[in-house]
Amino acid sequence: MTLFELVKQNICVPDAAEHYGLQVNRNGMCRCPFHEDRHPSMKLNEKYFYCFGCGATGDVIDLVARLFGLSSYEAAQKLAQDFGIDPDKPPAAIALPKPERPQLKAYRQEEVHCLRVLCDYLHLLESWKVQYAPKTPEDVLDDRFVEACQMLDYVEYLADLLIAAELEQRVKIVEMLNKDGLIAGLEERLNRLKKEDDAYEKQSAA
Ligand SMILES: [Zn+2]
Repeated sequence: MTLFELVKQNICVPDAAEHYGLQVNRNGMCRCPFHEDRHPSMKLNEKYFYCFGCGATGDVIDLVARLFGLSSYEAAQKLAQDFGIDPDKPPAAIALPKPERPQLKAYRQEEVHCLRVLCDYLHLLESWKVQYAPKTPEDVLDDRFVEACQMLDYVEYLADLLIAAELEQRVKIVEMLNKDGLIAGLEERLNRLKKEDDAYEKQSAA
């Protein structure tokens, strides 16, 4: 059985959605994370999701891939790791996930949060690197381009570790990111930049 099959067979969409912080109501609906959704318009079935607002749809792997900006394979790996599925063991040997200790659950939420902020930052840097690249050798380098060049590899490295490293190493990274409010500061900055961006777009549209 492939990793994809294994993951899809063992993890249903609503469980994954809840695990990564979406609030699923009794009807299996949640607010869609892929568009500005005020009321729950995403339906979560066992095997797939569908958003009545924006048409987003897919299986459990698609959901996680889109949530975190991962490839399908990375998303399957992340799911397997977070739900304790070992692709090397035959399916019969997979025990049901043990109930998580509250401490571990709180940690996981923090990890998901860190990864979200890092991925957002990563996507911003990627676009800066293209958007603000110097057009001629004489151009003064844009700060955003410089930041992208300096930070891209490191941020990508951290995000990769948070997706694929052993728990022990991930705990250390999350600890480091939370130290001195690093991740909170970054999140605040990203929100501010996004607001400025939206305001700018509104202005140019007017
Ligand atoms: Zn939607």
